[in-house]
Amino acid sequence: MQYVDSLVDLIGDTPLVRLARTLDLPVTPPGEGPVVLAKIEYLNPGGSVKDRIATRMIEAAEASGELQPGGTIVEPTSGNTGVGLAMVAQAKGYHCVFVCPDKVSEDKRNVLRAYGADVVVCPTAVAPEHPDSYYNVSDRLASEPGAWKPNQYANPHNPRSHYETTGPEVWAQTEGRITHFVAGVGTGGTISGVGRYLKEQDPSVQVVGADPSGSVYSGGTGRPYLVEGVGEDFWPDTYDRDVADRIIEVSDADSFAFTRRLAREEAMLVGGSCGMAAYAARQLAHELAGTPEGRDAVIVVLLPDSGRGYLSKIFNDDWLATYGFPTTGADAREGRTVG
Ligand code: PMP
Repeated sequence: MQYVDSLVDLIGDTPLVRLARTLDLPVTPPGEGPVVLAKIEYLNPGGSVKDRIATRMIEAAEASGELQPGGTIVEPTSGNTGVGLAMVAQAKGYHCVFVCPDKVSEDKRNVLRAYGADVVVCPTAVAPEHPDSYYNVSDRLASEPGAWKPNQYANPHNPRSHYETTGPEVWAQTEGRITHFVAGVGTGGTISGVGRYLKEQDPSVQVVGADPSGSVYSGGTGRPYLVEGVGEDFWPDTYDRDVADRIIEVSDADSFAFTRRLAREEAMLVGGSCGMAAYAARQLAHELAGTPEGRDAVIVVLLPDSGRGYLSKIFNDDWLATYGFPTTGADAREGRTVG
């Protein structure tokens, strides 16, 4: 019989799928022009790349004794890490309390509750040091007896899980032909872990971060933006400042317009940070097209999650219109803001 004992056993080994229509470039065989390959992380059993870090962080805390039988896992999370943690916690008999900023969609919060977790919502528009900030609220809850906070922003098992799984997968899947790796930066775990692994295999691999306009990684001050799960208003320990060769700044308008193109033209129903990262990968492909370097370019872009958590936002014309983003026509394709 073919089966696994738990969904947790199905984490990782996600496929690479070539982007074709949305690049607006001729689709040529590898070796004759840039190839962009999307790593489809929503095919993880919890629906996102974060399943990878959840398992590793929990196993490490059990081994160190920080997480005791029957304990409570407390974490500030925009949803995806919560799902991964909730999935593993259920199998192992832990309770979960998640702290979310209020910009996280109601859909995503309900998913966490469906897995049996408690969800506490905090305001986005306060400084990290404010008592109501989601970092501080989670610290308070985590200081209660039996509680353990994985702290994906500082836990070395976050980048390590990518160094040990995502990086080797990408290297093997591209048979070592990858020239550029593109990922959105939130905690920085993905780009730091994958980037370090790839550079150890071949120092010439270019590691490119995609970042929302306003976030610190692209030189911003942390001013608000709408794309979820990426960008920060501080520098987390999990981000290795030495690994990215370049950061490409992407506006909310371009991120959302490209997210919608991925669904309509590539049948990839993915989240806003995926549209952001893929838009950066497209920009890179355009820069490389027609250059000698571009002939052999193999760009891998990691797409962290599914679009199902954003149906009432990015895929909702009324929501987009509320923020002045175009929903149809040439402006929507280019991501220009109207009005
Ligand atoms: N996209 C989404 C939707 C996320 O939830 C996250 C994690 N915050 C990221 C991208 C960024 O990944 P990382 O934290 O590894 O930088």
